Amino acid sequence: MGNKKRRNSARFQLTIRFALLLTISILVLSISIVTVLSRELYDSTKEQTELLKETMKKADTKNRVEWLEFLDTYTSGKSSPYYIQVFLSSGESIYSHEARQVFSQFDEMNQFLFLQTLLWEEEDVYYYTTLEKGEDTAAILVSMEDQFDLIKRVILLSTLLTMIVLFVGVWFIARFAGVFSRPLRVMNNEIGALNLEEKKGRLTVPEDPREVKYVAESFNELLEKQERSLEREKQFVADVSHELRTPLTAIRGHVKLIRRRGEAHPEVIPKSIAYIDTESKRMTLMVEQLLTLGRLEKGTDVTDVSQLLRQIVDDFQLMIRQTLEVTIEEDVYLIAEKEHLRQIIRNLVENAAKYTEPSGSISIQLRQTKEGVTLKVADTGKGISAEERLHIFERFYRADQSRSSQVSGSGIGLSIVWALVHLYEGHINVLDNQPKGSQFVVYFPKK
Ligand code: ADP
Repeated sequence: MGNKKRRNSARFQLTIRFALLLTISILVLSISIVTVLSRELYDSTKEQTELLKETMKKADTKNRVEWLEFLDTYTSGKSSPYYIQVFLSSGESIYSHEARQVFSQFDEMNQFLFLQTLLWEEEDVYYYTTLEKGEDTAAILVSMEDQFDLIKRVILLSTLLTMIVLFVGVWFIARFAGVFSRPLRVMNNEIGALNLEEKKGRLTVPEDPREVKYVAESFNELLEKQERSLEREKQFVADVSHELRTPLTAIRGHVKLIRRRGEAHPEVIPKSIAYIDTESKRMTLMVEQLLTLGRLEKGTDVTDVSQLLRQIVDDFQLMIRQTLEVTIEEDVYLIAEKEHLRQIIRNLVENAAKYTEPSGSISIQLRQTKEGVTLKVADTGKGISAEERLHIFERFYRADQSRSSQVSGSGIGLSIVWALVHLYEGHINVLDNQPKGSQFVVYFPKK
């Protein structure tokens, strides 16, 4: 497990990849150097041997004595690499200095790979060529011991260098990768130590590497968002409990009243029951609305908004006393859940009726352009002040007047409208209506 963890670490993987790359590069480089060097050495040996052959051709070697003289002059030096065997026309063989011994092993020599001119035997490598001169033939072996030694030394040196570079390189890259991933490890530890209950826990943002800096910044933003949403949730729960506690206390009060005095004064009963009835209805509605808020999922059906609006207006007309002015453009369609659109329209229209005196009027308009759909609900009611406009879309907000007045409500309706409109990338504005009242304008973009 621990081993696997180590193998998965960026540091380990970087180091391994780097080591592999380094080894391959150095190997290719070394092989190239050795190849070029061998080729050069081979060519120069060949060239010099050709020179020797030229000289042999030109030299006076008509008989055995002249041959021996020649061989003595050109190949007797201690460091001479040339071993020559001459087959005279008489059938006799003569040898240069020490050549007899070398040629005695000739049969045991092997060809070096595909090169017919290179022979090797135990530790020695020879360049091999022949020369025809008149009736005589000469076999020439050129010792390449020095060249071979040089190549061996180059190979040894490059192996050694490879090892050193690899060792130093791996050490260096492992260190570098460690330094590179340290901010990540620090970040990981900090995340582990974060206590989300305790606010303002933030990650330290390193200056570099930039990638880690961005991650840390994004993470801090996320933390902030989460804190804000947690705060909102807390506020929400507090508001809900408050909103439910008040009517519940009142209901319990009425129940107690009926218990204590119901028998002696039965006239209190109908009033209390009526109160319990409206309050419990209000609470049911509120709970339903809250549930809607908690389950906001975009619908993908095509909804005929014109038809839906007409339906709602028809039902509504029977329940209100205000005058209704309706302008509905035909064939307005939106990709949205019908129930969502119904909630938006109903909340706006019901508010208009709730906050407008019976002698007032309400106007409803539905229009569309190429870009989008506009729904306007205007009334000649009490209007909304600039201060109130800042809050009416908040959950449970009710203007003071509405609270104290007899108008029933929970302050959730507009917050649902707001959430639903934004769910479909739309927006909503509140304006003053002329000569009085307010006007809600909802806009949905068309896709
Ligand atoms: P509710 O109507 O249940 O109180 P809403 O969220 O629908 O809650 O509205 C919030 C507040 O906004 C209302 O209490 C009221 O003060 C104000 N409001 C909404 N619509 C209108 C309107 N058409 N005219 C005047 N005030 C309004």
